[in-house]
Amino acid sequence: MPLIAAVRQVFAPDGPLVRDLPGFVPRTGQTDMALAVARTVQGGGALVVEAGTGVGKTFAYLAPALLSGARVLVSTATKALQDQLFLRDIPRLASSLGAPVRLAQLKGRSSYLCLQRLEDALLGEAAAHLPLAQRRWIEPVRLWAQVTRSGDIAELPELDEASPLLPLLTSTRENCLGASCVHAEHCHVNVARRTALAADVVVVNHHLFFADLRVRESGVAELLPSASVVIFDEAHQINATGLQFLAVQTGTAAWKRLAADLLRQMTGPLRGYADWQSLSHSVSQSAQELVALFHGPASVQRVPWMDSGPAGIDSLAWHAALEQVSVALERALSTLDLLADADASMQLLSQRARALHQQLSGFGGATPAGTVQWVEVGQQVRLCASPLDISAVMQAHVALPEQSSRAWIFTSATLGNDDALSWFVTPCGLRGARTLRVESPFDYARQAALYVPQAFPEPAHPGHSAAVAALVGAAAMQIGGRTLVLTTTLRAVQAVRKALQEFIAQRDDGDITILAQGDASKRELLERFIEQASPSEKGAVLVASAAFWEGIDLAGDVLQLLVIDKLPFAPPDDPLVRAQADACTAAGGNAFKDIHLPHAAMVLKQGAGRLIRTETDRGILVVCDTRLHTRTYGKKLLQALPPMRRLHDQADWQAALAELSTRAAPQPAC
Ligand code: SF4
Repeated sequence: MPLIAAVRQVFAPDGPLVRDLPGFVPRTGQTDMALAVARTVQGGGALVVEAGTGVGKTFAYLAPALLSGARVLVSTATKALQDQLFLRDIPRLASSLGAPVRLAQLKGRSSYLCLQRLEDALLGEAAAHLPLAQRRWIEPVRLWAQVTRSGDIAELPELDEASPLLPLLTSTRENCLGASCVHAEHCHVNVARRTALAADVVVVNHHLFFADLRVRESGVAELLPSASVVIFDEAHQINATGLQFLAVQTGTAAWKRLAADLLRQMTGPLRGYADWQSLSHSVSQSAQELVALFHGPASVQRVPWMDSGPAGIDSLAWHAALEQVSVALERALSTLDLLADADASMQLLSQRARALHQQLSGFGGATPAGTVQWVEVGQQVRLCASPLDISAVMQAHVALPEQSSRAWIFTSATLGNDDALSWFVTPCGLRGARTLRVESPFDYARQAALYVPQAFPEPAHPGHSAAVAALVGAAAMQIGGRTLVLTTTLRAVQAVRKALQEFIAQRDDGDITILAQGDASKRELLERFIEQASPSEKGAVLVASAAFWEGIDLAGDVLQLLVIDKLPFAPPDDPLVRAQADACTAAGGNAFKDIHLPHAAMVLKQGAGRLIRTETDRGILVVCDTRLHTRTYGKKLLQALPPMRRLHDQADWQAALAELSTRAAPQPAC
């Protein structure tokens, strides 16, 4: 059957999805998107689809891709969605369509157990220095290592992603022994890559995709030429993720790791062949002197770097410090080069020293046109040079309609606030791509309300966080928790949490659990938030920042009140944001209108999207930023939000809260 007809049949009322998937309802928007994807799969080129929450975009792109029989590469922003596609969505859909596929997923090497490093950790002393809470994981990991087939660390969900044990169990490009490793044949990283190369459908993530375009290490670059369909879900992330990986970065953390490995040679087989202590000392000492120039700021900061050096740092001292690092690396490199033939680990060390020296040399001259340089300063110092967007690299890889038979599909719930989806299309170099916007099927006017309090402190007012906490505290006690507060900074998370604790402590008419980002892992916080929504619990307020503005799905009555503290404008002083704005102005554009406003609109829309996740959800969105009333751009930002009914005053707000509090609170789904 021709692809278009087959796709129509799949989404028809008598189709296989209605038959096989409980609760599946055919929707016009989903079918329209699937047909647009099918046409692109047939004709090639690029298609950009903004599909509102609830459209069912996953099946809309997967069905035509699977039915086409083509080799498919799917990339996601998050590992959570990557796992969901691999473990649940693709197998379920392939079975319903009767289209069996060889399916594989590929992650970065830090996601896989390294058999060599596990062996080293079990024998060596490094694990003994870990905190007790982490050491107790060693035995379960050892047992799991004997039975796991994938070696994917995600199979150990209780092990915190930030655990200091993980670097001891996983490899980096620097420390992998490669072909000389005795475990190379059964190595999980190698097996995952071989499986991916033989599969029909491979699920990767954006980090891996862009990292591989740069260093061609993980196997994606080998997969790409043979894939006829490439799909980016959560595509709104690709510019930011791409920049992160296309940027050149080097700094004191990497130099100090090299220094530590040089020092380790003092007890190795080549201990008598060089003065390892002196080589190590000059690298670590020069790195430390560079850090000392910045007088250790309290939090990590990005310092703009003009041609003469970072802002606020004496230019001569800066260049002298860089020169010192360069000399120390050069000295280590000449010794390592002489010994590189001795064994594989010495060869790796010499390659690392060479790469670090080359990266540092790249920062010697003036900032190249079309790029921006900055220094990231905290306990370590990192030198960064980044292009202003990913358009050049995308144009080199993504062919537009008239140029290629390969289909490129980009989709997300938030890609722009105009029909051309310019916010996404322009920086990604996709001008000329076909675009489609599919509205959410939710009845926002009935399901949700928007409240922007009029009498509220300005966002810059010192009492703003306390006012947010007072509004949240009173409302959350009325509806039994079920409240998520999204802030624009981590500092505001702490300020709102503290004020909320004080507010609750002063009240004797109820109690509520307060959860805040940083108290536990994201997964744990969400689990506790969901537990607290049970009728037998007292309810919870979760206060969180950037990591919670997207990618969380609290369906049902678990979340009924979403509060955003301030409009999410990008920090104008950030060196990358400032360079993008300057380039826009230089090209005759208006940086506020063309960059800052669309960015804020997209992030606001993404955050607001947490509230209504299914057709039966009900909730209120509160944005505690009076600029929506007082500034001319407020109207534009309000238009970016789903068409919720407006609550105009305190009386409307109280009535809407009362309505929510009378709703039954069934056990939520997540
Ligand atoms: S080949 Fe590299 S990643 Fe694989 S087990 Fe050996 S050291 Fe670890």
